[in-house]
Amino acid sequence: MMTLQEEQSKAAPGALAVVQALVNTQYGQGRRAHRELTSPEQLRVWLVAHGLLAEGAPVTQGDVRRVFQLREALRSLLRANQETTMLASSIEVFNRYALDAPLTVHLHPDGPPTLEPDLAGVDGALARLVGIVFTAMTDGTWARLKVCRNERCQKAFYDTSKNRSGAWCSMAGCGSRLKARAYRHRRAAHPEE
Ligand SMILES: [Zn+2]
Repeated sequence: MMTLQEEQSKAAPGALAVVQALVNTQYGQGRRAHRELTSPEQLRVWLVAHGLLAEGAPVTQGDVRRVFQLREALRSLLRANQETTMLASSIEVFNRYALDAPLTVHLHPDGPPTLEPDLAGVDGALARLVGIVFTAMTDGTWARLKVCRNERCQKAFYDTSKNRSGAWCSMAGCGSRLKARAYRHRRAAHPEE
């Protein structure tokens, strides 16, 4: 059995963890919602901390909008790793960012090759994210990065289960709450069962 801490700290491997962290700059609804990156300064600090932007590079309100748009397209694409199919509109958004992302193959003495952007600033950060997603889609790790099935949560988590059956960001949190709700619904529909 995994402890709650282990379960909640399930991070995607390698660079894909940055994509997961980006998606998780916003999740949840209502009073318990988690929201980061609500200003250019917050976005700048986040991008620098995650190695996507050089210290001192400018970030505008337009950049905040672009990062939000790519983030929500990624969340939608990740949802397809559960029960749904990829939405054409999200594929279109991703492809638009990919079109603006000049990437070149880089080999490394250790570790797999990566796609590196030939751009600086936020444009470069967006391009690098596109490269990370493509690499993860081809090396098989993408399929394990999922969005919590709880519609009111939608947090990204890395499914480490053997049969890739994980559905919730945390069994103790969203998993148990939803199971309890489904049980109550069944009881209400069929009280004599
Ligand atoms: Zn959840």
